[in-house]
Amino acid sequence: MPLFDSPAFEGHEGVHAFYDEASGMKAIIAVHSTTRGPAAGGCRMWSYESDQAALDDALRLSRAMSYKNAVADLELGGGKSVIIGDSRTQKTPALFEALGEAIEALGGRYWGAEDVGVSPADLVHTRRRTRYVAGLEGHEAASGDPSPVTADGVFRGLALCVRRGLGRDLKGVRVAIQGVGNVGGGLADRLTAAGARLTIADANAAQADAVARRTGAEVVAPGAIFDVEADVFAPCALGGAISVETLARIRARIIAGGANNQLASAEAGEALFEKGLLYAPDYVINGGGIINVAAEIRALDRGEAYDRAWVEAKLARLNQTLDEILQRSLDERRPTHVVAGQLAKARLAKGRSPAVA
Ligand code: NAD
Repeated sequence: MPLFDSPAFEGHEGVHAFYDEASGMKAIIAVHSTTRGPAAGGCRMWSYESDQAALDDALRLSRAMSYKNAVADLELGGGKSVIIGDSRTQKTPALFEALGEAIEALGGRYWGAEDVGVSPADLVHTRRRTRYVAGLEGHEAASGDPSPVTADGVFRGLALCVRRGLGRDLKGVRVAIQGVGNVGGGLADRLTAAGARLTIADANAAQADAVARRTGAEVVAPGAIFDVEADVFAPCALGGAISVETLARIRARIIAGGANNQLASAEAGEALFEKGLLYAPDYVINGGGIINVAAEIRALDRGEAYDRAWVEAKLARLNQTLDEILQRSLDERRPTHVVAGQLAKARLAKGRSPAVA
């Protein structure tokens, strides 16, 4: 299985495979960087088509967490764990306890949290075997589900993009949202309250209908969301929504949403810049959730309670950073994702010293 030769490998500090015979748990934990602090990133459970696909996903996602945590100016590095399995049929308490033993074996180099396929309730079992897991509920330091904070950050970033790109507030702005789950649904609620007009699509029709009932959004089929007449396109489903092909269909002038890994390729990032679209880099605009998780890690480390004011200050600063990235992109005539990548790399190179790059 190629590791060092994988295109997804980028100087990762450690890549660890774990197998627990009793529970059947197979997991990979990738630690990309600990230069800014312990690596932190969610635990994903997915039916990967091969071990190589799981490894590549762990490599890509952990590197993205290094970038996201650095841009959010958190004293955390980047890591990610993936459990190979079907989250609908193969979850057991023993499996999540085995994940806890795996995380514990890394001695604090990696902190886990929830991600696709894994809920706070699953992590209760993980917590029995390790203290290095956050995003839980029911204790003083607990931060709970990070999704509402992610949605809040995406909402603020989207409003900033509309101010900069269209010179107006959100009233009457037309937003097309792809995927209205935890993040996209929360974004839809906030946009509706601000007077935006929504068109939504979700692979799960019941989910789309539920969000439409409470927001008055128009629902279209998943394949049609790219063709919608809108001012903003908000990808909030899975990765890869922005490709050279979908860009030919997207009418919006702004792309701002919560999904991870939105650009299907580097060419897509260049192409949207050439078309004059304003793109909020995904790992910048969607950093709210990890900020919330970081508040729990910080509280546990200090023996203190969860501090909502600290989260608010970090969120506000992150939106300023997004503003600075958009301005630099204009000044330097370079795509926003290139500017963001340069900022993240500079902060990673500096390590723990205050990030001022
Ligand atoms: P979720 O599973 O609650 O919601 C995703 C929704 O997208 C689901 O309703 C699903 O049916 C729908 N979907 C999937 N494929 C689709 C398609 N092709 N077209 C239309 N809809 C589709 O997940 P979430 O927590 O809301 O996360 C959404 C995205 O945001 C993911 O990319 C995730 O990695 C990213 N993200 C989430 C958080 C968080 O705090 N939850 C933080 C940062 C990034």
